[in-house]
Amino acid sequence: MWRLLELAPNRSLKRIAVLTSGGDAPGMNAAIRAVVRTALARGVEVRGVQKGYSGLVESNWLAMDRASVANILQTGGTVLKTARCEAFLSPATRLDTAARLRGAGIEALVVIGGDGSLAGAHQFQQETGFPVIGVPGTIDNDVYGTDDSIGYDTAVNTALEAIDKLRDTATSHERVFLVEVMGRSSGFIAASVGVAGGAEIVLLPRQPADVDTICKVLQDSAARGKYSSLIIVAERDDPQLTPKLTAELSRRGYQSRAAILGHIQRGGSPSGHDRILASVLGAAAVDALLAGHSDVMVGVRGEELVLTPLAEVTANKKPQPLEYLSLIEQLAT
Ligand code: ADP
Repeated sequence: MWRLLELAPNRSLKRIAVLTSGGDAPGMNAAIRAVVRTALARGVEVRGVQKGYSGLVESNWLAMDRASVANILQTGGTVLKTARCEAFLSPATRLDTAARLRGAGIEALVVIGGDGSLAGAHQFQQETGFPVIGVPGTIDNDVYGTDDSIGYDTAVNTALEAIDKLRDTATSHERVFLVEVMGRSSGFIAASVGVAGGAEIVLLPRQPADVDTICKVLQDSAARGKYSSLIIVAERDDPQLTPKLTAELSRRGYQSRAAILGHIQRGGSPSGHDRILASVLGAAAVDALLAGHSDVMVGVRGEELVLTPLAEVTANKKPQPLEYLSLIEQLAT
């Protein structure tokens, strides 16, 4: 559990809006619920924007009351829908959008999404002066300024469930399984499931995926009497990498199979961890707005909730968890 922020209100807001944007992540609904119920408890009205920035651009929003977020805490996806929106990349559209929001009496915006969505929120605030708060919601956990993001824990557990099953088959048939997991350029899901699933090898994005090195690990395993292996491959720009590696390992005499987990990692009921994280961050987002903050993201660092300027969030890349690679190797041998 995280220590909550003490945020004393110093401004009043009549009406705010909330949206989810970019890739959906389990726990986004819990965050929406926390935003809505916290705002209502503080006497602030909430508009739920449909389909991310698309709904913002098109003034597609609905009034949210307590009942509109009933029974969603435990559901995956996002009841507000999400989208990627080309139109929001235009400065003229963003200016027009701010005018529409102000015209509708909306005074601030909570954006729940990944690094792209948060970059959009920052850009919007900078150009229009419209108050925004970001909440990190992405299974990739690649947002700078927070240790954790909503949906990551659930995605790791979903991938692990599949990996444990693949391990059974790998062991029974003495095969090599290459399991491709999501995670964009960060590789956090790959490193986590590598540790938790006892993988022999993890290939992170932007790191070499050299067949000779993989074969050496497989040979060493075989020398110890272990003929099955799990190789976790983080998704990369080259979608053919996993099939290509699998074919090459088979050609070299290692019976190999590929399993690309894909979109099953996105959905599903959020874990307890993600429900708590989403509830805490959603509530803090509203309280941060009422305390006068804007152009910041609420996140977690260690035990603490922290506010990080969106300028910092968008200007930096979260480092890959490279140090986990040697731990994974050490524990597999
Ligand atoms: P995620 O938030 O999951 O990283 P994307 O990178 O696809 O997802 O971003 C979601 C949306 O955020 C984009 O479709 C676009 O509307 C908006 N967005 C992303 N980057 C920017 C930017 N630099 N300026 C304005 N809007 C942006």
